[in-house]
Amino acid sequence: MDLKIYHMYPDLLNLYGDLGNVTCLAQRCQWRNINVEVVGFSMNHEVPLADGDLFFIGGGSDRGQNIVYSHLLKYTREMGDLIEDGAPVLAICGGYQLLGEKYIDAEGNDVPGLGIFDYQTRSEEGRLIGNIIIKNTLGLSPETMVGFENHGGRTYHDHQVLGKVVVGHGNNGKDHKEGMVYQNCIGTYLHGPLLPKNPHLADHLILKAMERKYGLNKLPCLEDGPEYNAHEKVLKLYSP
Ligand code: GLN
Repeated sequence: MDLKIYHMYPDLLNLYGDLGNVTCLAQRCQWRNINVEVVGFSMNHEVPLADGDLFFIGGGSDRGQNIVYSHLLKYTREMGDLIEDGAPVLAICGGYQLLGEKYIDAEGNDVPGLGIFDYQTRSEEGRLIGNIIIKNTLGLSPETMVGFENHGGRTYHDHQVLGKVVVGHGNNGKDHKEGMVYQNCIGTYLHGPLLPKNPHLADHLILKAMERKYGLNKLPCLEDGPEYNAHEKVLKLYSP
């Protein structure tokens, strides 16, 4: 069995070690004898995305977001169809904003989004920075997910969220919502190497890819001692 992971714009959208998420996905597949091909998709690529099984979009600067938008725009339909068809996508921070209608930066300029989803993001005073703990809505165990956030943009929407904020800011620092879930597409402000310390989320994405491609409904378990130690440590340090 094999999976193709599209790492979208690794050269432009890779803040705080977002790349670690792709390494984690690939490694967890390999430990289960699933062959993985990671394709770095960027400005010089003009290939169909439809043969991808799992998609990762990291966060980036406003400039990076703008450049990516100009290239990715022509793939909007394809991306939307893949999401509708249940392809798993993890989009972080700037990547999450990019899937919406637009991001209005600190100077009031529009950074257009693909408009696959109807939400908008606007920069407000002060950045939302720090460690974050949420309780996930996906029914995954453990219920908590831990991470780090750093964004000026505030996103408001009524879609399903990835989680309820326990510590930190989430989508906008006001409504205790974090991220967005539609089909198997997940947008989130949890940055950096999010998946290594949340292996349940990593496996959720892999399982959705395996379900869609091979009809599998279960993955072999892995020993996740160090991963959950890291998770527990964050909980211990930052829980209220
Ligand atoms: N435009 C984003 C912001 O809200 C980018 C942040 C990011 O991806 N870390 O600040």
